[in-house]
Amino acid sequence: MSGKECFKVLDKIFKPKKKVESKDIKGYTIKYGHIVEENRIIDEVLVSYFKEPKSYTTENMCEIQTHGGNLIVRKILDLCLKNGAEMAEPGEFTKRAFLNGRIDLLQAESVIDVIEAKSERELQAGIDQLEGRLSKKIKDIKQKIMDVMVNVEVDIDYPEYDVEEITNLQITNVLDEVKKELKQLEKSFDNGKLLKEGVKTAIIGKPNAGKSSLLNLILDEERAIVTEIEGTTRDTIEEFVTINGVPLNLIDTAGIREAKDEVEKIGIAKSKEIAQNADLIIAIFDSSKNLTREDTEILNLIKGKNNIIILNKIDLKSKIDENTVQIKQASRNIIKMSTLNQIGLDNLYKKISEMYSMEEINADNSILITNLRHKNLIRKAFDSCIKTDEAIKSNMPLDIIAISIREILEDLANITGEIVTDDIIDEIFSRFCLGK
Ligand code: GDP
Repeated sequence: MSGKECFKVLDKIFKPKKKVESKDIKGYTIKYGHIVEENRIIDEVLVSYFKEPKSYTTENMCEIQTHGGNLIVRKILDLCLKNGAEMAEPGEFTKRAFLNGRIDLLQAESVIDVIEAKSERELQAGIDQLEGRLSKKIKDIKQKIMDVMVNVEVDIDYPEYDVEEITNLQITNVLDEVKKELKQLEKSFDNGKLLKEGVKTAIIGKPNAGKSSLLNLILDEERAIVTEIEGTTRDTIEEFVTINGVPLNLIDTAGIREAKDEVEKIGIAKSKEIAQNADLIIAIFDSSKNLTREDTEILNLIKGKNNIIILNKIDLKSKIDENTVQIKQASRNIIKMSTLNQIGLDNLYKKISEMYSMEEINADNSILITNLRHKNLIRKAFDSCIKTDEAIKSNMPLDIIAISIREILEDLANITGEIVTDDIIDEIFSRFCLGK
């Protein structure tokens, strides 16, 4: 519970073993006792106390640790509600921390990223943001602009000194710097997005080429870190794996691994659909057979896209290889494999890490933008810089230029939440889960 009155509610339902009132308990202490309802013991619990302003929300807070289990938690929650507490909205604790000024909006948003992180580097980006690295970067950029803004204001107030030209030059210089930094942040979004969502990868091929065998091989190998995410459509699921530091989001059609029935197996039409939305297509062919019309269709489908061709079943006598014209024309990335004998998987992994030089991103300790809202605002601030440049070039009066500069400042303030509308705040926190 959080809020001015939370100890009042607590005192009605919690009896500490050694009788003491909440107001006499110091922050950061834990008390042992019982949750009671009309003198009946509901559970034996520990309660942690946090006194304002030293808490997550900066308000008075307490946390009741119960024995867990659904019923007991539900009961204690009901008791709190009956005695004057209100149910928290999704993300309300973090929202309060933001509204009370302990963290800025960027930090608040990073809480979701930290919770939902699926890879180490993504988690790192979340933690960095929570610790305020991005906030500091934005603040630094803002400060640079504010510094010139001061001169602009002076010039506007005291036009008789006529230093406009110097000021204009100064603004242009600062804007050049700022533009460079904003551009870099904006560019980091692509990497951030990749980290967050993974490289959307489709494994396609005609029935019996070995799609399921390949998928199983990868998933078995990476079993420990596979997470199943429900796909966008009902008949696909996505499997998140990290291969040599490259996060891959393998698009799997439900049952691809189970489908025994030939009819049920994934067909060309479905392959096309999946391939269309993929960042990377892994096309798998049975090298013990000549290419069929279906194979040709697949080869045409992948041409010009990020692709890897797998010539599977090299344990059998091969009919096609990397020199087969159609194969050669469709891809520069050809890997020979036998999924049955688990041969060639390391070559496939090597190829994937070559194609996505994530090692750089992984080792790189630069700030990553992972949130579309931030990216859009950074873009907007960049555009406002350009507008200011243009105003200067066309010799606009200083007060017009000043308006344009204020727009940049506003865009940046929107990112950190210094100025931000209620609906945006509501939208951001609605994405949180309850109790965060
Ligand atoms: P899918 O229809 O593309 O998913 O293909 P499967 O993975 O179900 O494989 C079809 C058949 O080919 C199965 O009987 C597999 O055991 C067999 N198979 C898969 N990979 C290999 C391989 O590398 N060598 C051989 N000899 N058979 C394979």
